[in-house]
Amino acid sequence: MKTAAVERPPGTAADTTTTARPLNVGAVRADFPILSTQVHGKPLIYLDSAASAQKPQVVIDAERHIYERLYANVHRGVHDLSMRASEAYEMVRGKVARFIGAPSAKEIIFLRGTTEAINLVAQTYGRANVAEGDEVLITTLEHHANIVPWQMLCDEKRASLVIAPINDAGEVDMAAFESLLSSRTRIVAVAHVSNALGTINDVASMTALTRERARNAVVVVDGAQGVPHLEVDVRALGCDFYCFSAHKMYGPSGVGALWGRKTLLDAMPPWQGGGDMILSVTFEKTTYNEAPFKFEAGTPNIAGTIAFGAAIDYLTNLGLKAVRAAEHDLLAYGTAALSAVPGVRLIGTAANKTSALSFVIEGVHPHDAGSILDYEGVAVRTGHHCAQPVMDRFNVPATIRASLGVYNTREDIDVLIRGIKKVQEMFA
Ligand code: PLP
Repeated sequence: MKTAAVERPPGTAADTTTTARPLNVGAVRADFPILSTQVHGKPLIYLDSAASAQKPQVVIDAERHIYERLYANVHRGVHDLSMRASEAYEMVRGKVARFIGAPSAKEIIFLRGTTEAINLVAQTYGRANVAEGDEVLITTLEHHANIVPWQMLCDEKRASLVIAPINDAGEVDMAAFESLLSSRTRIVAVAHVSNALGTINDVASMTALTRERARNAVVVVDGAQGVPHLEVDVRALGCDFYCFSAHKMYGPSGVGALWGRKTLLDAMPPWQGGGDMILSVTFEKTTYNEAPFKFEAGTPNIAGTIAFGAAIDYLTNLGLKAVRAAEHDLLAYGTAALSAVPGVRLIGTAANKTSALSFVIEGVHPHDAGSILDYEGVAVRTGHHCAQPVMDRFNVPATIRASLGVYNTREDIDVLIRGIKKVQEMFA
């Protein structure tokens, strides 16, 4: 067995600690090569990080380094390259665990992302533990990825999907949430942060209420929009599962992680069958590997996972406290600027929110606004944001969403506002 230090792609650390320096957005912007590109002859103003964040050079370099210097399949070969690739890959498991305060790397499952993680929990834990008459509790503000897998499970098991409502600000009605918890509740699945509204859910209180009122339930947290903006500590949240996607936190697409409590993972049946998730196979019987490997059938996204580690280092080195402070300041600036434009209505005004500015412009379809803004170089998302029930709640077909990342500035918001005024002139 090789004992040398684990090989790390350029710019990645064995471990990282958070720093308290304020965010130097100018320096951060220089880390992202794509920000110097132009769109329709205008400088790119990227306000679509909630859909997918851009990648810093260290993440790009890390992925490239794997293919140039370190690529082989993982967990299989006794040859040197495969062992070194496996060590680099496994090192990221520990990094993910530390990043979210998970007690053990063995509780981290690598998957394609949040969607796959929620489907895994629904199809393994859910199928084994939800029966006819049981309930799965979600909220109105969920992304489709945290609705449809539970709907499929409830259909199959003749269980009920129960929805905790949100108020006009886009906050979960906690009294209603509490009243919907009961001995019938088997799963509570909530977003840490709403992608459509930016609302930060009080997950710790939701978990505490669940423990009090629904002792048989587990709490699943969709952290896709949580990890890029908030310091996450799954022990402090008190939840049972937490999942997220690398691509929304400046890492590659096609990889993400699910954390689950070890006792739950050990008791859960595997999901997909195939290579790497077994200890032995005969035609008569297969013995499964232990968690997390029993949930990781087939060749994973090797280079992407190692570059995911580089993204964790990047964000940790910036310091999530500093990221949060900078984004909070920018959100306040953007909220004030948008509120000052006549005819613009913000959708989602929660007291505790982050990073997303969803709005509609009177008399203009969001898609038309999005196309005109695009010609100004401004990339925003328009549509239902995979959260149609949120659109229904606010009685709009779609919104325009400007979502913030570590590289955004007040100037970006100013360009957005000038673009909106142009849109309004064209539709006047
Ligand atoms: N949950 C939330 C809150 C999201 O914003 C998203 C993506 O937009 C998802 C889940 C799905 O993530 P992915 O497409 O990376 O699986």
